[in-house]
Amino acid sequence: MYRIRFHGRGGQGMKTASRILGTALFLEGYEVQDAPRYGAERRGAPIFAYVRADKRPILERGVITRPNLVVVADDTLLGVPAAGIMQGVDAHTILLIAGGDEAALWRDRLATEATIVMVPGPVGETAAGRPHVGVASAAAAARLLGVVGRHRLIEAVDEELAGLGKEALAENKVQALDAFVSAGALSGVVEEGPEFPARPGDADWIQLPADPADVSAPAIHAERTSVQVRTGLWRTLRPIVDTERCRKCVWVCGSLCPDGVIFPDVEGHAAIDFDHCKGCLVCLAQCPWHAIEAVSAGARGPRSRGPSPGRERSSVMTRKLLTGNGAAAWGARLAGAEYMPVFPITPQTEIIETLGEWIDRGEMAARMVTLESEHSMVTAAGSAAATGVRTFTATSSQGLLYAIEMLFTVSGWRAPFVLVNVSRGVATPVTLEPDHNDVLAARDSGFLQIHCATCQEIVDAILIAYRLAEDAAVRLPVIVNLDGFYLSFTREPVDLPDTEAAARFLPPFDAGTLAFRAGHPVSEAVAVLGGGPYSYFRYQIHLAAEAALDVFDQTAGVFEATFGRRYEAVERYRMDDADVAFLMIWSFATKAKAAVGRLRAAGHKVGLVRPRLLRPFPEAALRAALKGVKGVAVVDQNLSMGKGGILFAEVASALYGLDGAPVLVSFIGGLGGRDIDADDFAEMAAVTQKAADTGEAPPPRLLFDADELAEVRKLQTLAAVEWPKESEPEPEPKSEEAAS
Ligand code: SF4
Ligand code: SF4
Repeated sequence: MYRIRFHGRGGQGMKTASRILGTALFLEGYEVQDAPRYGAERRGAPIFAYVRADKRPILERGVITRPNLVVVADDTLLGVPAAGIMQGVDAHTILLIAGGDEAALWRDRLATEATIVMVPGPVGETAAGRPHVGVASAAAAARLLGVVGRHRLIEAVDEELAGLGKEALAENKVQALDAFVSAGALSGVVEEGPEFPARPGDADWIQLPADPADVSAPAIHAERTSVQVRTGLWRTLRPIVDTERCRKCVWVCGSLCPDGVIFPDVEGHAAIDFDHCKGCLVCLAQCPWHAIEAVSAGARGPRSRGPSPGRERSSVMTRKLLTGNGAAAWGARLAGAEYMPVFPITPQTEIIETLGEWIDRGEMAARMVTLESEHSMVTAAGSAAATGVRTFTATSSQGLLYAIEMLFTVSGWRAPFVLVNVSRGVATPVTLEPDHNDVLAARDSGFLQIHCATCQEIVDAILIAYRLAEDAAVRLPVIVNLDGFYLSFTREPVDLPDTEAAARFLPPFDAGTLAFRAGHPVSEAVAVLGGGPYSYFRYQIHLAAEAALDVFDQTAGVFEATFGRRYEAVERYRMDDADVAFLMIWSFATKAKAAVGRLRAAGHKVGLVRPRLLRPFPEAALRAALKGVKGVAVVDQNLSMGKGGILFAEVASALYGLDGAPVLVSFIGGLGGRDIDADDFAEMAAVTQKAADTGEAPPPRLLFDADELAEVRKLQTLAAVEWPKESEPEPEPKSEEAAS
């Protein structure tokens, strides 16, 4: 497998570079996965993007930690440790640096044994003011791999940059070809990397100490702690104050600077702390006297914008690279959704942007309305569905929580529609990365839940969800869940169903008795006084949700007959003769499959069980899937405080009283997007095997290691938090297999 990482600054086109290379490899017949990685701060801040390519299906997921090729588009980042450029770089890695210095000099400076290849630095701007650094990086990387031809490269540039217009596209193609040709002598220098071995015991887990609340709350206890973080390194443009023009009204620019780095100098003019000015130029835009101008501060250039996944018209079956968000938009399009009340929230926004573009271009006959909150959005969705209109909406994290009152309400209306939730951990503290406490908070709302592990599943699950929701025996809304970042922004090959076949699978919404109209008023959510009637209505929702189990199976059968892909309520992977199983519901299940492959190769009888449906809970299918299994590692990407993993409790109750039930071991992993690596899977299997052998399950375990605690301690130091040193955990003994 090829594993490539691109490093640059927000605005330099690293996401574009990864997409161009990903598309070129896809066109060459490779399985591909590409994704960008960034936080809330983008322009000028260090960001990276990555591409995996293989001739076999790719089961790895998330950030590449052991790259074959690292492309550094901006050599000033090599001095910024937070950029993480050297992570996993070893003697087998090729480091491609855009800059003017000699390779030998960088080898000394970085003290690395990696092979360093230099290419000329950023090459300036086009007439249209667009930077070329992204496309040139992609082209040079493609040449170093030696498996991408120039025609495929140009096809990929065409596909990814079509939105820039003819002139800029032509200039980018010239740049791509220049970079491709100049790297010709090094064609094929990058070799594919091997499968990585994993050993139980290498996971280095620790038992997390229970710190007092004043230590463990994510608070900053000192003023201006960001003083220690030189965010000025992110700047690509530098604001300069013209003291001739400056009227000394620093309360204006000083208040509006989002980083609070403008102060009056001794004469009262605005002065800027350049150690921390990020170069956002809010001050320039806001100064009423035009006393601030911008000059270049080294690396530069606006971000080039690739086309949205929905740019192409498609009425035939196509296989294309789509992000999870793009796949969700295609699901809504193929389902023929007519009404979309929306409210943007990261990492869901790309879904509604894509649908909005299609509607604007007349490619989708739907109405999109932006509401003022997710609460109103779900109210509007339920109301629209109650009129018999096929309705789609999407949200994430706090947005779903904000809507939660209305989730209970509209499911009580028995209004069927589909809501895509892009999972993201909930505050506090704040993260943009995924875990499942958002969607699991909606577990008891009356919405059904389908969970997806790949971009392909997202398109398919949305089509299935509409048929399920609209079935007369069900008539309930459905949440289709996907993980932020690991799916939302990650492109994978997707077979898009033919629009006509999609229409055959999902005929127009037969609203039946749903006929809420101005001329036919219906009072929804009527007051029911008394527990008896209330029990009746609530239990009816439960019965409908239970009926959805059979309807799901029937729907999956029709889907398979139409499209050839089978979706069981519970996926079983290599479970024949398995003694031990991983059990999980989210996109890291593909990583679990890779782990199963490694463990099987080493002689362990291991498999994976993945419930796709969480509501209704497929209890009988789960029992059948785990028949004969001796130990199950239940891996929860959520945490019910004071209880533990929610999935664990669900599985335990489903197996309660079953003769020969397996020993269950609870693991909490992936909170806030925390990676679960090969060593973690190996250790979980070893611990679960031991529990199966002895019949004794160890206490629930958070996947967390000593390095992660050290990182937290660094942050606490920065935030002036003192922790009790005596609480630091001792290293734990390794599992027996590792010790031997
Ligand atoms: S707003 Fe403009 S004029 Fe006023 S202090 Fe700031 S830079 Fe000077
Ligand atoms: S560019 Fe201006 S507004 Fe932005 S961080 Fe720097 S001083 Fe503040």
